[in-house]
Amino acid sequence: MPSKPMNSENKAVRVRFAPSPTGDLHVGNIRTALFDWAYARHTGGAFIFRIEDTDRERVTDEYIKAAQDTLKWLGLDWDEGPEVGGPYGPYLQSQRMRIYDDWASKFLEQGDAYHCYCSSEELEARREAQKAANIAPGYDGKCRSVSESDLARYKSENRLPVLRMRMPEGSTTFKDLIRGDVTFDHNFVPDFVLVRGDGSPLYTLAVAVDDIMMRITHVLRGEDLLSSTPRQIRVYQAMGVAESDYPAFAHLPFVMGQDNAKLSKRNGEVSIAWYRERGFLPEAICNYLALLGWAPGDDRENVTMKELTELFTVERVHSSPARFDMKKLEAINGDKIRELKIDEFLERVTPFLINDGIISGSSGELAIVKMALPIIQERIVNLAEVSQMLKFLFVAKFEVEADSLPKIMDEQSQVVLRASIQALETLSSWDHGSIHSVLRTALIEELALKPRIAFGAVRIAVTGSHISPPLFESMELLGRDRSLARIKKAIS
Ligand code: GLU
Repeated sequence: MPSKPMNSENKAVRVRFAPSPTGDLHVGNIRTALFDWAYARHTGGAFIFRIEDTDRERVTDEYIKAAQDTLKWLGLDWDEGPEVGGPYGPYLQSQRMRIYDDWASKFLEQGDAYHCYCSSEELEARREAQKAANIAPGYDGKCRSVSESDLARYKSENRLPVLRMRMPEGSTTFKDLIRGDVTFDHNFVPDFVLVRGDGSPLYTLAVAVDDIMMRITHVLRGEDLLSSTPRQIRVYQAMGVAESDYPAFAHLPFVMGQDNAKLSKRNGEVSIAWYRERGFLPEAICNYLALLGWAPGDDRENVTMKELTELFTVERVHSSPARFDMKKLEAINGDKIRELKIDEFLERVTPFLINDGIISGSSGELAIVKMALPIIQERIVNLAEVSQMLKFLFVAKFEVEADSLPKIMDEQSQVVLRASIQALETLSSWDHGSIHSVLRTALIEELALKPRIAFGAVRIAVTGSHISPPLFESMELLGRDRSLARIKKAIS
C-alpha cells in the first residue's frame, strides 16, 4: 500500500468537520465542510466528521441525521465519524462525556482550573462596573483564591460551582495558515468556563480535548471561531500536549450576503435543504461554494469535485470575506444541468416531477419526459422548474392558467388561433419543422404579426402558460390531436 503523504510535521493529515447542528446545515457550514474534505482528499489524509452535540436540547437527532444526509448528498464522504466509526470514536460528543469529565478533574487537580462560585447576578454586576470603569469586560479572577469562610458560605447557600480555566499572564501566538501569525493578549482572554454548574462540558473543553484525542492535524473552520483559539491552546497546554503536536489552524473568511453583512436568514437563503428542494445540483453547490473564498489559480468557474481535490490548497484561500452571489450559483447550476447526459438528467428530475404530482413515474410517462428533456435542458437553471415546463404534457384535464387566460381572449389572439387551426389542419406530417413552417406562413407572413404576439397566443392555448419549452417542439411532443383540440378549446 502506498504510504500516505505527510504534512510538514511528518504526520498524515487528519482534518475534521465538527458542526453543532441546531437546524439544517447552512451555506457557511457546508463551505467549511467542503474545504475540510477537499484538503483531506488533496493530501491523501483522513476526513473526520464529528458531531458536537453536548447541548442536546438544541442539537437533536433529527438535525444530526439531516447533517449526515446533506454531506452524503453533496458527495462529501467521511473516513471516520457517525455510521462508519473509526479508531478514535465515538464521534458524537454526547457519547464522550466521561472523557471530558476526566480531563476536567485532571485540570482541577493540577491547579490549571479552579471552582468558581460567583453567581450570575454577581458576575453581571461586576461586568457593569467594568464597563463603567472602561475596563475590558470578562471574569476578574475572583475565585482564583477563595477563603475558607467564603467557601463555607457558598456551600451553605448550595451554590454549584463552574470549573474555570486559569489563563496565565502574557499572550498566545499561533500561526494561522491563512492569516499568518495571530496574537491574543491575555488581558482580553479572561479565565473561561470549562464545565457548567450541572457538570456539562462547554464547547472549548470538548473541542480541544477531541482535536487532540482524535489526532487532528489541521483545523480548518470559520473565522467566527478565531477568538476561541487561544482558549483551546490553553486546554492543550493543560493536557500536557507538546506544541509540535498542536493542530495547525486555518480560519476561513466569513461568507457575506449581498448587503455585506454576514450571510444569515435575514439577507439570503442559507439552508442547504432549501437549495436542494429547489433543484440545485449537489455538484453545482460544491462548485459554487468552492469559489467562495478560494480560487483554483486561474479564472475558471467550472470546477469538478475531482479538480477541487487536485487543486485545493490552504494557501489559495483568501483572508478577506467572500460574498454570496445567488445569480452566480444559478448560472453554475444551469451549466451543470446542461452537462448532464439525458439519462442522468431524467433520473435527477423524476423525483421532482413525482413530488409535484406531474407524473406517477410509469415507464410510459418517463419515456415522454425523456423526449421532452432535450428541449428544456438549455432553458432551466434548476430542476424544480421542470414541473412547470412539462406539466402541459401530462395534465388529465387541460385548463389555461388563470393569469394567462386574458392574454388569449382579445380579438387579435382569437384571429391568430383561428388562422392557426386552419393552417395546422393542412399538415400531413406532425413534426416541429413543419409546424413551425405553416404557422410562420399563416401568422407572420399572411397576418403580418410579430412572432411574439402570434406564437405567444398559440403557446398559451397549447401549453396553458406563457412559460413553456420551445413551442413547436412542445406541439410535436403533445401530438396533433391534443394540440388541435386545445387550440379549438381556446377559440370557443
Ligand atoms: N461545533 C462548532 C460549531 O458548529 C465548530 C467547532 C470547530 O470547528 O472548532 O460552531
